[in-house]
Amino acid sequence: MDKKLLDESKKYLMSTYSSAPIVLRKGRGMKVWSTDGKEYLDFVGGIAVNCLGHCHPRVVIALQKQAQRLIHVSNLYHIEPQIALAKLLVDHSFADKAFFCNSGAEAIEGAIKLARKYAKDHHDPEKYEIISAYGSFHGRTLAALTATGQERLHKGFDPLVPGFSYVPFNDINALQNAITSRTCAILLEPILGEGGIRVPSDDYFMKVRDLCDRNKLLLICDEIQTGIGRTGKLFAYEHFKIEPDIITLAKGLGGGAPIGAILAKETVADSFQPGSHGSTFGGNPLSCAAAVSTVETILEDGFMLESCRRIGLYFKEKLEKLKKDFPSDIIEVRGMGLMLGMELTKAGGPIVEACSKRGFLINCTSGNVLRFTPPLIVVEQEIDRLIDVLEDILERQLYK
Ligand SMILES: *Cc1c(COP(=O)(O)O)cnc(C)c1O
Repeated sequence: MDKKLLDESKKYLMSTYSSAPIVLRKGRGMKVWSTDGKEYLDFVGGIAVNCLGHCHPRVVIALQKQAQRLIHVSNLYHIEPQIALAKLLVDHSFADKAFFCNSGAEAIEGAIKLARKYAKDHHDPEKYEIISAYGSFHGRTLAALTATGQERLHKGFDPLVPGFSYVPFNDINALQNAITSRTCAILLEPILGEGGIRVPSDDYFMKVRDLCDRNKLLLICDEIQTGIGRTGKLFAYEHFKIEPDIITLAKGLGGGAPIGAILAKETVADSFQPGSHGSTFGGNPLSCAAAVSTVETILEDGFMLESCRRIGLYFKEKLEKLKKDFPSDIIEVRGMGLMLGMELTKAGGPIVEACSKRGFLINCTSGNVLRFTPPLIVVEQEIDRLIDVLEDILERQLYK
């Protein structure tokens, strides 16, 4: 443990995170190293961000080249890598247009503004309400926080932003009943991420799409965690045989570089005109160059998406086997591709800690759901090693 750095971290940083007592300095592929030289196998992947692993050579070279050429100019001028990234995302999605920002919460804020503006342009000025799901997570800025259907995260920050309501996820009747003449959009994660890796039933999104069409509502899919190959398709909506009107992206998009995006159909995107929205850093050359190299690498030959699906299934089967062996510890295994969750009968924190002592980084969300979002380059032997450690920890009850 690097006591001096940890003390300084505590002294100088606001304590918004209860971070593990580890200072990470270096990473390559699936591995990271702390300042005191300990090696870890990383199944957190920067919370579903490092989709190509740490310091992937193509991302590093793209960043180096771009840093030497041009780092920032603002959106008062056109930016080559931003145009390339927009084209790449549009060519591989339902969308016609992109807007770039710097984070997930910012993408959500922009999507909320776009949905409200669209409703005012095309329907009724009184149509501004957005329905989201209990247990959802959409970010920490005020409107994104309000959209987040978790009361415990709202606490202490009211008054929140008007115009949001919530329904249970994966309950189409509740959603139907919540629609009013003021509703302009439905905002949903394809799979709840922070909410404990909850996968909806196969036909849920088709029914949501149908409700949206019949009530002239926009469907916004928050793909900040599920997007960019995480679930085995470039975007998770593809699994559910629907097309949304807007999606938000961030996490995996830049392969580690900070970037967020809103993608939309042309008719919707047209509600943003000069003056409607903006961002000084959004779509900057550096982040966009990293994102172009990331998305290109993921799409090449479809190899990575295919292997994400295959390895994801392998991983899930191994977790299912653990569940069978430890029925009093494990309630359920959930997820798609390499976005997997294992719900425990007890708090997950101690298991996360026991894993990190043994050189494995995993995460726990919703209190008792172990979350696995490793880089998409993870291989079977690495999964086997983690499973062995989890098995040993459960077997010997080392987390107690
Ligand atoms: C992480 C996340 C966000 C927030 O992204 P930030 O970059 O932390 O602002 C929003 N929605 C979902 C689904 C997320 O997983």
